[in-house]
Amino acid sequence: MLRAMSFDDALRAHYPGALSAERFVVHSQRELAKHGFDEANTIACVGTCRDELCVPLRRAVMNAWGEAFNFSSLAGMLLLGTAGFKAAHAHAPVVGGRERYLYVAMPHIGIAEDGSIGTARRVGREGDSTLCGALVMLGAELAAGPLSLEEDADNPELTQLRRKLAPHLQAGTELPLVELTDVAQRVIEQDLERLIELTVDTASADYAVLTGVQVHAPGGRTFVRPGLSYACVRGARHELPTPG
Ligand SMILES: [Zn+2]
Repeated sequence: MLRAMSFDDALRAHYPGALSAERFVVHSQRELAKHGFDEANTIACVGTCRDELCVPLRRAVMNAWGEAFNFSSLAGMLLLGTAGFKAAHAHAPVVGGRERYLYVAMPHIGIAEDGSIGTARRVGREGDSTLCGALVMLGAELAAGPLSLEEDADNPELTQLRRKLAPHLQAGTELPLVELTDVAQRVIEQDLERLIELTVDTASADYAVLTGVQVHAPGGRTFVRPGLSYACVRGARHELPTPG
């Protein structure tokens, strides 16, 4: 475990530019309004880890955008496929002949009060809990050798997580969790953009992409280090400005 002086030091060191989940949502909502997205004309699709600590971010998105289609699976991987994306799109409002989709997708990590990376305290449980548990487990497997890519019928999501991350990782190395989480973010971004490419018709739909890393802080606070942040309107990509 990496140690730092405090949570704030660790957040600044590893996730410069991180902001509270609420500010992340409010800022992006304000910027997306300039591109024609609003609560009434847009369906939000949110992919996080299944961990209940991810609920506050999902709730913040839903407070801003209304009920959201759930894209979540272990570690935040996007495993719903084109069928899932098409289902979400089919639920979108049609306003002025167009549909609008907002995708929010990211992995998560915990930072403790003392700056320890990959831990969190959970209400009602003694001691620290690992976070993201699935990525911590995968990191331990990776340190011991090549990840098993065998189908584990009783662990379909874990099987897919291993298969998706393995090509980006070197077996037998102890990869710091921050770096492993960054790899997960890139895999989620690549999957998201591929699934958008496969399912979105920009002739009749606009969409927006918000990625990053979700950081859980002591006291139940949640931060987001923004990643991809753009809107695609009538086929043209517009980058959203970084929160100031
Ligand atoms: Zn997790």
